[in-house]
Amino acid sequence: MIDKATVDQILDTADIVDVVSDFVSLRRRGANWVGLCPFHNDRNPSFYVSRAKGICKCFSCGKGGSPVNFIMEHEQLSYYEALKYLANKYHIEVHERELTDEERVAQSEREAMLMVNEWACQFFESQLRTEAGEEIGLAYFYERGFSEATIKRFRLGYSPDDRTALYRAAIGQGFNRELLFKLGLCKDDGHGGGFDFFRGRVMFPIFNVAGKVIAFGGRTLKNDPAKYFNSPDSLVYNKKDSTMYGLFQAKREIAKKDKCFIVEGYADVISMHQAGFENVIASSGTALTEGHIHLIHRFTNNVTELFDGDAAGIHAALRGIDMLLAEGLNIKVLLLPEGDDPDSFSRKHNSTEMQRYIDDNEDDFIRFKTRILLQGAEKDPIKRSAAITEVVKSIAVIPSPITRSVYAKECASRFGIDEEMLLREIQKYINKNREENYKRRERERRRMEAGLPANEEPLPTENNSEAPTPVAPTPSKPARLAADASQLVLRQEENIIRYIVKYGMCYLCDTEYDDGVKRPTSVVEFIYNEMSFDSMQFTSPTYAKIYEIALDSLKDFYQDLANFKEVAQAEADEQLVEELQKIDARGHNADSLKKEEEKVQARITANMASKVNEFSRNYLERRLCSHLDDEIRLTALDMVSEKYQLSKIHTQYATIATEMDRLLTLVPEALYNWKNALLDHQIKQIQSQLKQSTDPEAQKSLLEQLQQLYVGRSEIAKYIGERVVNPN
Ligand SMILES: [Zn+2]
Repeated sequence: MIDKATVDQILDTADIVDVVSDFVSLRRRGANWVGLCPFHNDRNPSFYVSRAKGICKCFSCGKGGSPVNFIMEHEQLSYYEALKYLANKYHIEVHERELTDEERVAQSEREAMLMVNEWACQFFESQLRTEAGEEIGLAYFYERGFSEATIKRFRLGYSPDDRTALYRAAIGQGFNRELLFKLGLCKDDGHGGGFDFFRGRVMFPIFNVAGKVIAFGGRTLKNDPAKYFNSPDSLVYNKKDSTMYGLFQAKREIAKKDKCFIVEGYADVISMHQAGFENVIASSGTALTEGHIHLIHRFTNNVTELFDGDAAGIHAALRGIDMLLAEGLNIKVLLLPEGDDPDSFSRKHNSTEMQRYIDDNEDDFIRFKTRILLQGAEKDPIKRSAAITEVVKSIAVIPSPITRSVYAKECASRFGIDEEMLLREIQKYINKNREENYKRRERERRRMEAGLPANEEPLPTENNSEAPTPVAPTPSKPARLAADASQLVLRQEENIIRYIVKYGMCYLCDTEYDDGVKRPTSVVEFIYNEMSFDSMQFTSPTYAKIYEIALDSLKDFYQDLANFKEVAQAEADEQLVEELQKIDARGHNADSLKKEEEKVQARITANMASKVNEFSRNYLERRLCSHLDDEIRLTALDMVSEKYQLSKIHTQYATIATEMDRLLTLVPEALYNWKNALLDHQIKQIQSQLKQSTDPEAQKSLLEQLQQLYVGRSEIAKYIGERVVNPN
């Protein structure tokens, strides 16, 4: 564990902009920095970083927090590991005490796997320096022209041609054999032992964005039909979206140059780096996926696919184009002369020659597609129209209407065709894509629903038994109940807290304050006003803490809300201009045109209002549900999980909307019920004191108190509309 002084030093030193920039390219916007959110599929920057406040936050999915929160979430690390990560980044010496055996056991499997991979990487590196390693592995790397510096930078290694070299060494180090199997480093031999998966191969470790070894690629040096072996997917590695080969080494240069080259293989990446082109990455062991593209998009908008000029290279390039376009990236394609791949090409030419070749031969996707599809048949009308259709289809997947229209213009002028017609054609494909996407989502939804258990229980526990922390929160009632609180009072408190957790920051009504000014009041402010008026307090310590957090969040909330509204307003304005331009004036007279415009305006305004609503609704909920304090987090999760269960069931969806719509009735009602329960409780207490009391003076005073409480209760009863009979 890390001592307190070191923790403070880490927290003081870590700069949020700096920490986030390792994973996302940030741009300045006003006092803040913005970028694409690394936690959800973000196409327009919704991830805000405030250096002054030392926090980051996604306005769309709500994730973020301090540098430690960010690293925990992004790297899936524990609090302790995240601190170590930051200490390492800022070269802060960590004073830590030895872990106890219990702590060692508690270390998550993920962390243990990363540790095994790091150890294995060092093992392969050291094996490169043995006699056999030098003769076989190192010789191969030298032959490819890799320098010592390059070998060190990419941490290349060698796996000895020995059935159990790694296995024996790992077991000798006390590593768990199951982990070796799960990581794909070794295979179970069925007799209680294991053997090495990558034996006799040169090793290319695969790093995640943060630089941790998450997998390996191993290349055979023999006549093996399987040239490359890759680690299987595991808890720490997902081929489809964990990483791209070389991204860790390339990310700074990609952000700096605002451009990224995609190549096919590991060796291509390494050769290009060595040739001075460091903004180069490859998809590792699989075709380009959406996950890869999101990863790239965090660092740049500009991608150039760099492939061999052979049929396979062209095919790969074509396949990537639409995927990259659909994610809003600017895509160029560069084919190398036939017979060359980036590896061989970069070895034949110096970096100036390479740069010149790139500048001269980089094509935008329209030119590339046209060139490939027409190939010497420019005059053939059938081929021409097929080529136009292909280009139109690509333009139709571009999310930004502005970019689309730029490309449409370009395409129209290149083919010498009418731009209007082209735009109509593009719109047709957009509609078609939309419909297909909708159908696909519907299918997925139905599949999901079919897979759900019939009852509304969370996942059966046996599914979770292996997970280090249970996914479904166990309902957590406040552990320490105040001694004098009756169950009834607690139930009412819970009800109030539930409204705070779920809707605390939502606008409830306007309230006239002491200064005579009416101000918008949120649910939690309304509750605060009522509670202070009657000097009420929560008896449950957990509820009291949640209430305090909510009040403390108000200031931040209103600031964040203002920022959010600014962004949403700008988007709405842009959308309005765009949609107004789309209205075809020809079919309208002045009146109907005005109506049409008003309709568009109303729709966009409503849309923005609902976004603001959503933002407010999620604000506090997310803060509480990711709180470090277990009791707070579990209580909050418990209260909102009911909503998530409902949201899976469409017929009941309406109930949720109703609750949100009826807050102005429900919240005051809940407050009165709580007050009522409190009074009842006090009345009962005094009644029992009265029974025990023999002193006439004390009895008199108790009766007076009782009388006051009855009055209070009947006043409240008027609000609740319930009949209360005062016993005389
Ligand atoms: Zn997000």
